[in-house]
Amino acid sequence: MLGKTDGVILHAGGKHVDRIEDLGIILKTQRYHDRDLIVSAFTEKNGRISAFARNAIQSRRFGSALDPTTASELSFGGRSIKLTDFTEDSLLSLESAEPRKVFSQLSKDIERLGIASFFCEIVLKTTMKMRPYPDLFRLLGHGLDLANEKETHSRNLISLGCTFLYKLLQTHGAQPKITRCLRCELSLTEIPQTFVHPQPVDGGWACSACSDRSTGDRRGDPVPVSIFMEWLPTITESIRNYSRNLGNTETLPLFQFLLEHTRFHVPGAGDSVIQSLTFIPGVDGKPLINPPQPSLT
Ligand SMILES: [Zn+2]
Repeated sequence: MLGKTDGVILHAGGKHVDRIEDLGIILKTQRYHDRDLIVSAFTEKNGRISAFARNAIQSRRFGSALDPTTASELSFGGRSIKLTDFTEDSLLSLESAEPRKVFSQLSKDIERLGIASFFCEIVLKTTMKMRPYPDLFRLLGHGLDLANEKETHSRNLISLGCTFLYKLLQTHGAQPKITRCLRCELSLTEIPQTFVHPQPVDGGWACSACSDRSTGDRRGDPVPVSIFMEWLPTITESIRNYSRNLGNTETLPLFQFLLEHTRFHVPGAGDSVIQSLTFIPGVDGKPLINPPQPSLT
């Protein structure tokens, strides 16, 4: 039987179904009028889903299951809803939600909440609806888990953010070239200088000698070679092995480098303000003036 619901056909694993049940991480909620919520969730099998949670505010029938960053068992289905005065999109209806994992430390610490909100926001901006991203789903779960863990010190949160961003770029097939100068191809261990210069448009960095000669594409602060060398060995492993020796202040130029690269090379990342970055001092969350156009359809 076709799962056609007022013009929207629900797909799950290529099959048409009446209902979708999936584990999902709540990325964002928006209040709609007085009673209802619009929920954006990143689900394990179906990717990003936007749904309408009727009467979610007044009845509290969903409890804490719709709090951003919470992982919940979600059930979507029934009629789809078109909120013509709000958006052109049709939304699925969210019928039930049961919290499966609450990252309870995040709400107690503004810095942890900041980096966790950034993880959710960048996933929201760089994914398409109803398309599964299994690697990215696992990465987001691990990232939130680490931001929440007592063992994670708040002075290492930017370092965790760097590793998260690099792995997100890998899942989008858009990671920067980080071991060699874009121009002269000398490696980090071969260049004589102590800093490299981000060149986000071209997708990597240039050594000081090449950066002085090149025009235009030089953005952001130079990144110390020592920070790159310390961080590099950790990115080939699980995100759990992010560098815990690097403090926030010293890691910030590397984070900015990866962020600028993301905004230039991943559709959706550069075309609006990244609001969660206001929690991270020294990082510019402003939109790009001419963001790259989405190439994915
Ligand atoms: Zn060079």
